[in-house]
Amino acid sequence: MKKLLIPILSIMMLINSIPSYGWGAKGHDIVAAIAEQNLTKKAKKEINKLLGGKSIVYYSSWMDNIQNSPYWKDGYYKTKTWHYANVDKGHTYETMSKNENGDVVTALEMLSKEMTVNYDNLTDSMKVDYLKMIVHLVGDLHCPMHAGRLSDRGGNKCKVMWFREETNLHSVWDSKIIESAHKWSYSEWCDNLDRADKKYRKSVTRGTYQEWFTATVEGAAKIYDYVESSESAVPVLSYQFVYDFSPMLEEQLLLAGYRLAYVLNSIF
Ligand SMILES: [Zn+2]
Repeated sequence: MKKLLIPILSIMMLINSIPSYGWGAKGHDIVAAIAEQNLTKKAKKEINKLLGGKSIVYYSSWMDNIQNSPYWKDGYYKTKTWHYANVDKGHTYETMSKNENGDVVTALEMLSKEMTVNYDNLTDSMKVDYLKMIVHLVGDLHCPMHAGRLSDRGGNKCKVMWFREETNLHSVWDSKIIESAHKWSYSEWCDNLDRADKKYRKSVTRGTYQEWFTATVEGAAKIYDYVESSESAVPVLSYQFVYDFSPMLEEQLLLAGYRLAYVLNSIF
C-alpha cells in the first residue's frame, strides 16, 4: 500500500504546484456557451465553417492546452503572456509597466484588428487560430486573478486555505469557486446565467477591452481586500467567501459571454 501511495502523493503534489493559466476549462466553457447562444446567424455560419463544424465551446480552452502540445515551440510560445495583465496595488493598467511580450489587453486589441481590418490578408489557419484565441482571451480578461498583482504573480503566490485545502488565490478563482458556487454542468451554468434582457446585453457591450479589464481590476481589488482583512496568517476562504463572491463570479462569466458574442458578431 505504501509503495502505491508515494507515487500517488507525488503526482498530487505536482498537480498542486502547476501554475494555472485562466478560468479552468469549465469557466471557459460557460463563457463560450453563453456567447454561442447570442451569436447572429451569420456569425454562427462563418464560425462553423472556420472550425470545421466544431463549436466555440469545443475550443474554449485550446489556448491553454496548446502550451502542452508539440506545436508550442513552433511559435505559440509567443502567446504565453497573453492570458493576463498584472496590476499592483495603487496602480492602474495605464500606470503599470507593460509586458513587452504582450498581455491580455494588447493581445485582444491586436487579434481583433487582424480579424477585422486585415481579415482578407489572413490565411485560413491564421483565422482559425485567432478565432480560438479571442474565444479564450475574452474569458481570461474577465477572470479577476488575471488582473491580479505582479507582486504575487496574479494570486499564484498568495497562499490561502480553501476550506481545509492549502492552495492559492489564483487557483480559487480559476476553478474552485465555480465548483463550490453551484453543482452545475457548463450548460446548466449557461442556461441559468443567460437570462438578461436586451437592454442589459446592449449596455454591457459598450466599451473597450481596456475599460472591461479595468473593471476586472476593480473586482480583483475587492477580493484582495477580503483576503487581507483576515486575521489568520493563511486566510481561510470557505462558505462566507462563496456567498460574498458568487454574484461577482456570475457577473464576470455573464459579461464575458455577452462581450465575446458582441466581439464575434462584429467580426463576422
Ligand atoms: Zn488562459
